[in-house]
Amino acid sequence: MTNLPPDRSEASFGDYKPAYSSAQALAEAHRCLYCVDAPCVQHCPTGIDIPEFIRKIGTGNLRGSARTIFAANVFGMSCARVCPVEVLCAGACVYNEMDAPAIEIGKLQRYATDAAYAAGWEFFTAGPDTGKSVGIIGGGPAALAAAHELRVHGHAVTIYDAGGALGGLNTTGVAPYKMRADQSLVEVEWVMRIGGIEVQSGVQVGRDISWETLQQRHQALVIAVGLGVDRTLDIPGKQLAGIHGAVDFIRMFKLGRVDMSAVRSAAVLGGGNTAIDAVRELRGLGVPEVTMIYRGGEAQMSGYVHEWKAAKVEGVRAAFHAQPIAYVGEDRVTGVRCARVGADRRPTGEEITVPADVVLLAIGQARLGEFAAALPGVGVEDGRIVVDAEGATGRPGVYAAGDCANGGKEVVNAVAEGKRAALAIARTLGGA
Ligand SMILES: Cc1cc2nc3c(=O)[nH]c(=O)nc-3n(C[C@H](O)[C@H](O)[C@H](O)COP(=O)(O)OP(=O)(O)OC[C@H]3O[C@@H](n4cnc5c(N)ncnc54)[C@H](O)[C@@H]3O)c2cc1C
Ligand code: SF4
Repeated sequence: MTNLPPDRSEASFGDYKPAYSSAQALAEAHRCLYCVDAPCVQHCPTGIDIPEFIRKIGTGNLRGSARTIFAANVFGMSCARVCPVEVLCAGACVYNEMDAPAIEIGKLQRYATDAAYAAGWEFFTAGPDTGKSVGIIGGGPAALAAAHELRVHGHAVTIYDAGGALGGLNTTGVAPYKMRADQSLVEVEWVMRIGGIEVQSGVQVGRDISWETLQQRHQALVIAVGLGVDRTLDIPGKQLAGIHGAVDFIRMFKLGRVDMSAVRSAAVLGGGNTAIDAVRELRGLGVPEVTMIYRGGEAQMSGYVHEWKAAKVEGVRAAFHAQPIAYVGEDRVTGVRCARVGADRRPTGEEITVPADVVLLAIGQARLGEFAAALPGVGVEDGRIVVDAEGATGRPGVYAAGDCANGGKEVVNAVAEGKRAALAIARTLGGA
């Protein structure tokens, strides 16, 4: 799976935040005020010492800069590209209050981490063998961050992942103009370089292997299974060809080819970040007319404002206050019939039909927490696995991290939570 087809559809996307040259990086680094109690650090879920890594770029110590980043966040390379910095670190930069552009923290982080990858610098070694073993269920950022930290502490680790490619949604879901699947896989290899992480791919826990077996094999478990399949809409016409879950469709074109040459129009249902990614990606794949259909107004969208602004610049349209009531078409979908709804979401009596040869549903993903409820003591609320401040579930030795516990956040949250669970396990099992 690491050998992805070079002609896959995502390969046609450009890089929307191109890398800095050294002169640009130095100039930006020298703008940093190196705040004491820097607010940006408080807003990075992995707590990277941002002023410190930027200061090191400014003094030409790139290796030290990368070390500072990776010490806090082993996924520093992808986070530099995919973090919504506008609402995290850079959103807290004091320059925002001075009406000046915030420091480009993501781009500086990319500059330092890309240098480390290019030079092949090594920063981590596994701790002395403790003879203890931890099983990790899932292969996304939360699972890999936990596995890496557990190896630093000398514990044996086995990852059980249902998918074919490691990296979870970082590989199969993130928009290609932020990071392509092959870059995520390079990062997976970088994380695995610590050695001693056994991977059992294509193994779905609960179907291919039982909880009992896992508990016999390991002294602790980390559940990091993410979210489940795209939710569907039970309306007439749902069987028509051309209707897909958005996450499923994104995975298809990131890992392989989709032919959109005959598609004149597309609609995406939803108003969150996946919907915004999907409309931008459909435009990037060459679909001339792309409409986002959302039952609320622009102000109610849960997706990031800066991403939606970019989508509009790229020519995406929106049908706000529109509730889909039927898909239109004979064998293939040709449109989505919607009832106009008011601010109270009640139908106004008006209807519109949005033309669409392809429809993507971005109305949420199923939550997978229920599958852990088979373990006595593990609490599940609203589909999420209930954890305490250290990531522990109610069952001794069983932890959870990432989207399956937080309900769906960002890669950086998954990384922070995976590491947090690993550190808590290391405290109970001992080790370096
Ligand atoms: C379309 C899309 C775009 C996104 N874009 C961004 C972005 O730009 N920036 C950002 O920071 N975040 C983004 N996110 C969110 C981010 O990808 C997730 O928050 C993050 O990947 C969660 O990591 P995780 O490890 O918890 O779960 P996942 O990445 O979902 O990984 C879960 C893993 O568990 C495995 N698994 C599932 N069930 C089982 C089982 N029973 N047994 C064994 N293995 C199992 C799966 O195969 C998968 O590998 C995006 C999400 C989506 C859907
Ligand atoms: S990991 Fe993300 S949130 Fe943290 S400093 Fe880097 S870009 Fe900002």
